[in-house]
Amino acid sequence: MSMVTIDDLQDIRRLAASVAHDVYSPIAEELDVSRTPISLEQREELGKLGFLGIAHEEQYGGSGSPFSYALAVIEEFAKVCRPAAFQIFEANTGPAQVIARIGSLEQRRRWLPGIVSGAHTMAVAISEPDAGSAATDMKTAVRKTPHGLVLSGSKRWISNGGEADLYLVYARLADVPGSKGIGAVVVEKGMEGLSFGPSERLMGFRGIPSADVIFDDVRIPEENVVVQAGDFKKLFSLFSLERLGNATMSLALGQAALDKSVKYAQERTAFGKEIIEFQTIQTMLADMVLDVDGARLLIDRAARSADEGVPDPLHVSLAKCAANEMAKRVTDLAIQIHGGNGYTEEYGMERLHRDSHGWAIAGGTPAMQRTRIVSEFTGRRFDQRA
Ligand SMILES: Cc1cc2nc3c(=O)[nH]c(=O)nc-3n(C[C@H](O)[C@H](O)[C@H](O)COP(=O)(O)OP(=O)(O)OC[C@H]3O[C@@H](n4cnc5c(N)ncnc54)[C@H](O)[C@@H]3O)c2cc1C
Repeated sequence: MSMVTIDDLQDIRRLAASVAHDVYSPIAEELDVSRTPISLEQREELGKLGFLGIAHEEQYGGSGSPFSYALAVIEEFAKVCRPAAFQIFEANTGPAQVIARIGSLEQRRRWLPGIVSGAHTMAVAISEPDAGSAATDMKTAVRKTPHGLVLSGSKRWISNGGEADLYLVYARLADVPGSKGIGAVVVEKGMEGLSFGPSERLMGFRGIPSADVIFDDVRIPEENVVVQAGDFKKLFSLFSLERLGNATMSLALGQAALDKSVKYAQERTAFGKEIIEFQTIQTMLADMVLDVDGARLLIDRAARSADEGVPDPLHVSLAKCAANEMAKRVTDLAIQIHGGNGYTEEYGMERLHRDSHGWAIAGGTPAMQRTRIVSEFTGRRFDQRA
């Protein structure tokens, strides 16, 4: 890894904020209204600027910077435009990190350069219609046949579903119940037997495609197996990186809502004075600052361990739970501070609030994080099935 200083972090944050402001701020509302993802050209431009390869090694086109730099860039884009931030999230903190950290050399060489350049994008497919929080109930399976490996099953709620070129699919690779039989394979768009359901019409996350992903006897080359059965723990420990990206999305929503509210409260007048003069408004703003800063500190702590390897799962679950719930509360208060304007699409507060609910469900709900927090904190395991 090249030598980095805090100035580099400030520089990359400033560059991200300026691109987000100049390029994505003018189109963010339209992407949301029309439920349109950013274009391939826009994604490739993000690649050229280096935003898709921050947390990837130089040999694959990345900059080999600390993981926290990627989070800073995600935050700046997500404050303005989640569809753009999402592609940076997928490339740096999502399934591509599984390839980068536990994929074979051949797999890294094959897939990472395309992701870092923006030519390709990835999705992670874990959830199924009957296996969400209970992910290890999944039925999607790879079976060995005389003609090779064959994948069947279907996945639900897959962000980037239909849009992505590469799918990291969690599946049963051995006929063993629970997590022990689960591994992961990469399915490439265009493979025979791969299809997609209709686009989901979600409350938020608009401009981030979401669809069922269906595998109807898809032939999987041996070299597309990334994680064998038996290595689920290793696979799932890397999901902590995705959770940090998720927590950062929530942080951005809260910070954007706070910044806009502070500005609005000093512009809007009622009863002849700026509404920030009213103690009720001050209390709301103070609660927002407390909430946003608390989440930021928890994310920063968890991110530091990500630079050294796999982040501490307790720190990650605390960060995700706090940030997800903070974003829901803070964006709700922002709507109140904006009065009638907060309820319009024009001011963007309702968009922040709608998105805050999505990030809380994605990546494991706060309820599931709480179970994990107590488990990690006490060193006890709680069997959810018993
Ligand atoms: C916007 C969005 C994006 C997503 N993106 C992806 C993606 O890219 N890839 C992917 O694989 N999945 C994705 N998901 C799926 C997501 O991971 C699941 O929706 C989530 O894990 C919850 O599963 P579920 O919807 O089946 O709810 P359920 O598991 O049915 O849960 C319903 C409710 O019960 C609670 N609950 C369940 N079990 C327990 C328990 N043991 N203790 C306490 N409470 C419990 C939950 O917290 C929740 O409140 C996405 C979801 C959303 C909404």
